[in-house]
Amino acid sequence: MSPYLGEPRDLYHGRALCVLKPRTARDVGDILALCNETGAPVTPQGGNTGLVGGQTPDASGDSVVLSLERLNQIRAVDAAADAMTVEAGVTLAQAQDAAQAADRFFPLSLASEGSCTIGGNLATNAGGVHVIAYGSMRDLALGIEVALADGRLLSTLGALRKDNTGYDLTQLFIGSEGTLGVITAATLKLFPRPRSRAVAFLGLRNPAEALQLLNFVKGHAGPMLNAFEVMSRPGLDLVLRHIPGTRDPLAQAHDWYALVELAAFAEGEAERAAAEILAAALHAGLAQDATLAQSLDQASALWKLRESMSEAQKREGGSIKHDVAVPVNEIPRFIEEAGQRLRAAFPQARPVPFGHMGDGNIHYNVSQPVGGDKADFLAHWTEINAIVHGVVSELGGSISAEHGIGRLKRDLLRQTKSPVALDAMRAIKATLDPNGILNPGVLL
Ligand code: ZN
Repeated sequence: MSPYLGEPRDLYHGRALCVLKPRTARDVGDILALCNETGAPVTPQGGNTGLVGGQTPDASGDSVVLSLERLNQIRAVDAAADAMTVEAGVTLAQAQDAAQAADRFFPLSLASEGSCTIGGNLATNAGGVHVIAYGSMRDLALGIEVALADGRLLSTLGALRKDNTGYDLTQLFIGSEGTLGVITAATLKLFPRPRSRAVAFLGLRNPAEALQLLNFVKGHAGPMLNAFEVMSRPGLDLVLRHIPGTRDPLAQAHDWYALVELAAFAEGEAERAAAEILAAALHAGLAQDATLAQSLDQASALWKLRESMSEAQKREGGSIKHDVAVPVNEIPRFIEEAGQRLRAAFPQARPVPFGHMGDGNIHYNVSQPVGGDKADFLAHWTEINAIVHGVVSELGGSISAEHGIGRLKRDLLRQTKSPVALDAMRAIKATLDPNGILNPGVLL
């Protein structure tokens, strides 16, 4: 059972009564009905790539881990309706491939796409690098099939685009982290496949310049803007040091960087637009230097710098994580303020902020002091969280932008969400899961 009892960050290890791997939605329902009758807690699990411990059973050993990995059928791809119905255990990469095979595009994209699954993406409302253009998982689902705690299957599957008939049950289960039901399948939106793509890497002075650049690119590229990611020099240094085959794409070092991707539907259109916008941005002094990928290989190499950030931090030692969002225009203030307060309290700690600037979502990770002890540093997790989340809350932000709450942020949620909102959440939970069998200890 051991692969099902731990998780990628190695923060949580649980025990379980058993791991069940049903093949059909009906079997998932039957398992839940039995657990509901016997009071056995259920921990639903997809690709086990979650970052907040939401898929890990607790230490009691009473839990049934319910793996959805064998529900792996693509049930239907309907290109004419721009929709496809896939089961929960289909990996994100398989879903992307199925869309592409039908000459369509499924836009959700994140570092773990080879192993994370659609069910988990929905249960956690996953985000990733194309949210700026297409929204998060919540925006990409037309309907779902979900097994309720009592074993019944609720289905909103289908290619219907408009359905204004009361409560939005689809959205209720998305982002509920397996606490209201177990998602077994979904109908997902498909989009036209972009025919051209341009990836640029720009050297910047500071986050304020990144914000100006973002607004400039938005204004000139409009809907072509497909990703706008940022990272700081210390972050790029870690990638260059730890990830083989990477190199600095710019001649000189800069304090900040933006990775910008444009996509368009005519051959060469994105490349032409990117070249013009880059030249104009440099001319306007909105960037210090820039490079535009001239081949798919170069584009992948630029993306690799961004996508290796977490891995590079892991190899550097202990890292205290934050997945936060603030209004996009407050990002520079957030980064400056969080940096100042951290330096005052922990002068040796190294902030390595990076992420989805275009969505106001920064992964504000803090690496341990050089040569320091990992465990000593990680012992300050709560204090460092309090500093960073303090700034987030002052700026009207969120303590979880795209990773969810899980076990990691459950207490934080209680401290930061309004009591009225928490009451409403508990009331919904009590109605749909009266015996509390669904992912206990997670979220609420
Ligand atoms: Zn992210």
